[in-house]
Amino acid sequence: SGKWGRAVAMMREFEKQCGTPIAKLIQVAGAMDVEMHAGLAYEGGSKLKMLITFVDNLPSGDEKGLFYALDLGGTNFRTLRVQLGGKEKAVVNLESEEVSIPPHLMTGCSHELFDFIAAKLAKFVSSEPEEFHPAPGKQRELGFTFSFPVRQTSISSGTLIKWTKGFNIEDAVGEDVVGELTKSLEKIGLDMRVAALVNDTVGTVARARFSNQDVIAGVILGTGTNAAYVESAHAIPKWLGRLPKSGEMVINMEWGNFHSSHLPLTQYDKDLDSESLNPGEQIFEKIISGMYLGDIVRRVLLKMAEEADFFGDTVPPKLKIPFILRTPDMSAIHHDASSDLNVVGTKLKDILEINNTSLKMRKLVVGLCDIVATRGARLSAAGIFGILKKIGRDTVKAEEKQKSVIALDGGLFEHYTEFRSSLESTLKELLGDEASDSVSTEHSNDGSGIGAALLAASNSQYL
Ligand code: ADP
Ligand code: MG
Repeated sequence: SGKWGRAVAMMREFEKQCGTPIAKLIQVAGAMDVEMHAGLAYEGGSKLKMLITFVDNLPSGDEKGLFYALDLGGTNFRTLRVQLGGKEKAVVNLESEEVSIPPHLMTGCSHELFDFIAAKLAKFVSSEPEEFHPAPGKQRELGFTFSFPVRQTSISSGTLIKWTKGFNIEDAVGEDVVGELTKSLEKIGLDMRVAALVNDTVGTVARARFSNQDVIAGVILGTGTNAAYVESAHAIPKWLGRLPKSGEMVINMEWGNFHSSHLPLTQYDKDLDSESLNPGEQIFEKIISGMYLGDIVRRVLLKMAEEADFFGDTVPPKLKIPFILRTPDMSAIHHDASSDLNVVGTKLKDILEINNTSLKMRKLVVGLCDIVATRGARLSAAGIFGILKKIGRDTVKAEEKQKSVIALDGGLFEHYTEFRSSLESTLKELLGDEASDSVSTEHSNDGSGIGAALLAASNSQYL
């Protein structure tokens, strides 16, 4: 019918606008490279903040001892106790607890959030056996993974630049997040020293470097997206301090805020952005990461329902609710391998209260998920290719057989198979056969937790 034709036409138009041919990805990577230079040149030189992390010594693999980590940066937060065994033994023991952050704390006051975190940490510590208690006169030490843009003033302090990913706690902006946490720890009487403040991307690099010295960058694809990489210290004009002995510095790019005229943006993306908590910001993140992908699909479906009666004469009311279609559900729809697409049917029914969908409707919904996930995955690959360009590892140099490993982590990368395989194949495509042999990706399991404990170890007061 004419209505079906209209829906298909809308889908085709959307697909066209989301297109990421290699030529476009090369432009995006080029823009990433240019913005990286600009962000390193001076503060405010680019939308990429290119933050100096004060991590100039990555784990060697020899780290030893008992350390704690806090991982805050998405919908959940975790407390970890990590026992590092030094050479060969690596991580001897790992204990962790995860709790979801009550939504009202994500947009409330600073002290409420930090008091909540401190209380969970105190509970975690109080339940541990005697053998883990610190020796008399010794403090427990903690790596704090705080995955929002922070201007670090040292390895263990830094002020919050802005919130992202659905957080918006005004009175915390501009404050030292370690100071805030420490205040809450003191209030509750928990004697623990924050030895390192790290971004999850930096933790991911550290965790992966612990096991593989060829790791040069870490990328998070979870609720949000971001990347960090190892830069040579003399390539950071804005760094006015002493050059680190290692000659290297990890840079937290905050690539979620990347923007370029080459990004394939649609009206749906623009609407999502303008209705978000942070309009005009984190545009790259809003077309790539787990918080948003499902909602882009919802928006296209809503438009099809409104303008092409895609789900019948009335618009299903649930379809109007922002973020009702979550990325894990989108992923389940996308991966439905049954011949009648019954997972798709069930998801549409359970989440959106849309009944009696035909097979061809279900196929179209799967197609939409594919368009949105593919665009996100290919742009992520372009971002990684941009980093490799920046540090001259995008081509093979005859004289050196240097390996480069990109560590990835985050729920989107871990669980969304189609996304992950599209990212990996696109990166190969961008690199070409020869360079592909020297660049690889790996999953840095639990980088944001273990990485923070490792960095607490290398910055321990007892070394
Ligand atoms: P965070 O980024 O919040 O620190 P994670 O790395 O665990 O935490 O990522 C969680 C995010 O990953 C979720 O918000 C969701 O968007 C995405 N995600 C989780 N599971 C899946 C899945 N099965 N398919 C696709 N995306 C998923
Ligand atoms: Mg995380």
